[in-house]
Amino acid sequence: MASYQTPRGTQDILPSDSRKWLEVEELIRSVCYYYGYDEIRTPVFEDTKVFKRENDSSDMVNKEMYTFSINNEDSLTLRPEGTAGVIRSFVQHKMYGIMEMPAKLYYMGEMFRYERPQKGRYRQFNQFGIENIGVKSPLVDAEVIALGYSILKALGLSQIKVVLNTLGDDESRANYRAKLKEHFAPCLDELCADCKRRYEQNPLRLLDCKVDKDHPSMMSAPKMEDSLNEESKAYFNEVLKALDALEIPYEIDDRLVRGLDYYTHTVFEVVSTHPESGSQATVFAGGRYDGLVEYFGGPQMSGVGFAMGMERLMILAEAEGIALGQREGIDVYVMGLGNVGTVPLEIATACRANGFVSEFNITPRGLKAQFKSVDRKQAKFAVIVGETELEQHMCNVKHIASQKQVSCDIDDVVDTIELLMKEGE
Ligand code: ATP
Ligand code: MG
Repeated sequence: MASYQTPRGTQDILPSDSRKWLEVEELIRSVCYYYGYDEIRTPVFEDTKVFKRENDSSDMVNKEMYTFSINNEDSLTLRPEGTAGVIRSFVQHKMYGIMEMPAKLYYMGEMFRYERPQKGRYRQFNQFGIENIGVKSPLVDAEVIALGYSILKALGLSQIKVVLNTLGDDESRANYRAKLKEHFAPCLDELCADCKRRYEQNPLRLLDCKVDKDHPSMMSAPKMEDSLNEESKAYFNEVLKALDALEIPYEIDDRLVRGLDYYTHTVFEVVSTHPESGSQATVFAGGRYDGLVEYFGGPQMSGVGFAMGMERLMILAEAEGIALGQREGIDVYVMGLGNVGTVPLEIATACRANGFVSEFNITPRGLKAQFKSVDRKQAKFAVIVGETELEQHMCNVKHIASQKQVSCDIDDVVDTIELLMKEGE
């Protein structure tokens, strides 16, 4: 017999886990609310050219995209990341002319990358991300890091580390690119094919190579710091000062480059230091970018943002022993004994309409079996509807904690529960 399974690199989120997801998503939405960010929802697929920009040397764009075309229509791609779609939308709807700047947007949803699946790395995964567009300021860079950091803190994660670096402005980066090319030219033959491509397209990416990371030329590579002009140094210092003021601990890693060509100034990664996180330790990463709004046809505008891997967040929460999505007991369980027809359903519905989480017994069962359900569901109240009482339009309400039971009219169940609750306080 054929068996049906989730495709490689994808997973079902079952009810016991979806509750955890919901809790984390609610926390994220609430932090965004406090920071004044609004949600933006863009399509899951876009024209391929939204993601595949000229000269992009990243693996994500070159090897990992799910691209397709139907009926010879223009090529489409399942989004591998959120930023491009958000900026496309920002320009398409001329948000720069409508909204107060900076525009503060967040997104949450599925991303798709053709990768080799392993723990913390999937083909369909979820990202939460923010984009702050329109104002270039070190304070904004620090605030964006603080938003992501405060989510991890609010979740209760403790083993995390902020790592950051600056790529400087255009002039500093051009300077650095030239120095890197000079440095790597003599040993280019010894480096991997990707490095050779990066050498031509974006030499900064050489430093990000996972294959050649231990090659001697990597260790002796020139440092970004020495290519920075005064303005870029000052900008970075302001970012660090703001992080100090917010008491966010950080490390500077002068080899942190982050792929995309449009990054300028601040780049950062927040990683887990928990031993179980292994090589999939980066929880969120991002930086400031220039030129992206212009690329999509908008004005010259700078932005800063990050993307957070939600699956990685869930894995780390679990590794750090953080309890999520605990289901609380229900308020009311309505029992039915004998031929009581729709009455238990009616009572449960009335209770729900009055704000009580309620369930009712469906299949014919004895008193004992139904009280087991009361136990299992940790109900605070049991309502017992029996055939004889029903003749008088009556039933019994039992407060489980105090074991107190009172008889009342079917129409007065809600009032009776409220009364018993008050008494119990
Ligand atoms: P990596 O170096 O791990 O491949 P990346 O640079 O491709 O990461 P980004 O594009 O910056 O990652 O994405 C931001 C975050 O999204 C990552 O830090 C990670 O938490 C998460 N992420 C990226 N790719 C995947 C994936 N295939 N499965 C699960 N989470 C992912
Ligand atoms: Mg990747």
